[in-house]
Amino acid sequence: MTKLLKISILCTIIILSVLSCASRQSPYDKKQLKVIQQSENFRDGEFVNIEKTRIMVDWGLFKAVWKRVFEGNDAEPDKKFILRRNKIKRVLNFDDKEFQVAWLGHSTVLIKIEGKYFMTDPVWGKRASPLTWAGPKRFFNMVTELDDLPKISGVIISHDHYDHLDEYTIRKLAKRNIPFYYVPLGVGKYLVKWGVPESKIKEFDWWDQVVIENRYKIISTPSKHFSGRALTKRNQTLWSSWVIKTDKYSIYFSGDGGYSKEFKLIGDKYGPFDIAMLESGAYDKLWPDTHLGPKNVLKAYKDLRGKVLMPIHWGLFQLGTHPWKEPAEKIIQYARENEVNLLLPKPGVVVDMRKTSNISYWWRMDQNKSKIAYSDKK
Ligand SMILES: [Zn+2]
Ligand SMILES: [Zn+2]
Repeated sequence: MTKLLKISILCTIIILSVLSCASRQSPYDKKQLKVIQQSENFRDGEFVNIEKTRIMVDWGLFKAVWKRVFEGNDAEPDKKFILRRNKIKRVLNFDDKEFQVAWLGHSTVLIKIEGKYFMTDPVWGKRASPLTWAGPKRFFNMVTELDDLPKISGVIISHDHYDHLDEYTIRKLAKRNIPFYYVPLGVGKYLVKWGVPESKIKEFDWWDQVVIENRYKIISTPSKHFSGRALTKRNQTLWSSWVIKTDKYSIYFSGDGGYSKEFKLIGDKYGPFDIAMLESGAYDKLWPDTHLGPKNVLKAYKDLRGKVLMPIHWGLFQLGTHPWKEPAEKIIQYARENEVNLLLPKPGVVVDMRKTSNISYWWRMDQNKSKIAYSDKK
């Protein structure tokens, strides 16, 4: 790589890293501000975590950028995976079973629970970035077109970072008749701007909940993270993890967040969980408080009283400095040591949650074949 190219990549990454950690303007109007100011988690003009949180240790950003640009470490697959389109429909094919999940990549999960579909952090965009020409790019194409999705009853958003709240996707979803969007405080404003009617958006503070059709409970639970989509002020919108509960099943979705004592509290209150979907990538010792890392994934899973662990937030975008396969490989090792039921499905493959866990090893596939070799069997 030429010196000039390295410097230009370095500059891009610095800009993007700063952009991903801050926000340009207050994203809410006066009416919203009144609600937000009543939140216990909003202090001195910004949302705060329950525990003291370092977004980045000193000089962390610079070191991280340097490491990413100048030290090759298998941060990305050698070649982009290509999912063969003609196979996709056969892969994402829910049947009548009452509790199924399909991981579509990163934090996008399609959940079928007792007849209704919910979707978390839908991202169909090519990059997790404010720019179309730069920033973290997908390792594999989306496993299905938005138009081919089943009828969604609710979209759940964890926070406003680009890898979780994607303008392209929300604009597309806004044209579909999705009845509800569940979002943390302050995030609704973005959705309105992108075409979602205000009446469909429900904003939640931590521990707020809603019951749908006397059957489905959706609960916003705390996480230790931060928010923001542009320069200047950050933490103007809240970040959450989420619980979906029926009389028979319970699901935990972490969004993003470092280890905290809140996992135990959530586990005591709403556990045990039939599936705990925990953020497992984008960790680094330079930002130890805002992402879990493999060891803490297991710790949080234990606190939550999970029955099956599904690592999410890995394998699609390069957002940390670790090798891209490392989250899965390390968690497999720790899960074995701790006798944890681990679920690592291929992107888009539907898993019946009443069966046992499985590990697909899709990420170990021979890159020269340029595709993930799906079979029709689960
Ligand atoms: Zn985030
Ligand atoms: Zn994230």
